[in-house]
Amino acid sequence: MKKIALLGSTGSIGTQTLEVAREKGYKITALAARRSIDLLEAQIREFRPEYCAVADEKAAADLKIRVADTDTKILSGDEGIIETAAISNADILLNSLLGKSGIRPTLAAIESGKDIAMANKEPLVASGEIILGKVKEKGVRFLPVDSEHSAIFQCLDSEHNSSRFISRLIITASGGPFFSKTREELKDITPAEAIAHPTWSMGAKISVDSATLMNKGLELIEAARLFNMSADRIDVTVHRQSIVHSMVEFCDGSTLAQLGHPDMKHCIQFALTYPERSESLCKKMDYTQSFTLTFAPPDEKTFTLLPLARRAITLGGTAPAVLNGAGERAVELFLSGKIGFLDIFDTVESAVNSIPVEKALSLEIIEEKDRLAREHIDTLVGARA
Ligand code: MG
Repeated sequence: MKKIALLGSTGSIGTQTLEVAREKGYKITALAARRSIDLLEAQIREFRPEYCAVADEKAAADLKIRVADTDTKILSGDEGIIETAAISNADILLNSLLGKSGIRPTLAAIESGKDIAMANKEPLVASGEIILGKVKEKGVRFLPVDSEHSAIFQCLDSEHNSSRFISRLIITASGGPFFSKTREELKDITPAEAIAHPTWSMGAKISVDSATLMNKGLELIEAARLFNMSADRIDVTVHRQSIVHSMVEFCDGSTLAQLGHPDMKHCIQFALTYPERSESLCKKMDYTQSFTLTFAPPDEKTFTLLPLARRAITLGGTAPAVLNGAGERAVELFLSGKIGFLDIFDTVESAVNSIPVEKALSLEIIEEKDRLAREHIDTLVGARA
């Protein structure tokens, strides 16, 4: 029986992972979340993990009292999440934490020899060199859960599809809720409008990132890192139906694609069953019916965070960490009503242009740049107010 440690268990990917685990009869050895203890309590009672970590200290203390009748040990704080990642007795750690908070738990899990199923994209963007260096050193598996990267991984998962034959990667984008809108039309977008995604059901941060195309920018960086590909060999195409999850073009002009209904449970299950496959609850495509797949170039003049991400990974070093930190902060401020939708584009671009790039030699350097990026956004917003 597969044993899984699940970080970020109360979010969208987390709860879908538990659906897969319930269906497959997998053992959950650890859970972790920031503070949603009502849901955590229910998850503990159903899955009986050895450990459960809660980032918020007060919420952890409350949960400890509530589940005192179970054998689950409660840990607290960011340190508690890192410790849980290291000590839980799991074969694989599925990380669906939010933002850069996932960096250290991921490293701790790799250090302890666990395979990683990665749904948390910011750590790879900010500190990909360090994380993937550690994966190599420890010889663990690193499986992408993001649908685009899972698709590319599946297209390349053959001993004959060697990376030397790849000519380009093509990442598909749904285009988000504001596809074909002009900059002028984006001016008054509210948080509620920005988080209503047309094809994927996701958390607030990634939904806003999808609406700005920042998500596609982060995914471009993830793809460059995971598949060791320069940014000029990664295309982005807007594919409104979200059926083709990404493609690989080979040197002879042949293109492989991975298709399926947009359902993250497919990507989660693939990462957990890999290298095998098994029946799933996901709806299958019906190719006997007529349907249309469309592809169009993204509007990079309006959605400037996509070319900015391409520039950041081309600059390399700490530039992607600055892009990420600035992006996380700008979205927080947008969701709390402190800045407008267009300010996300302008403030993040300013941060990437203003903060000098250094080599990403250590986590400390990356964390310092992340801090400077967030501070830069706050200073811009403060100066305007
Ligand atoms: Mg994705």
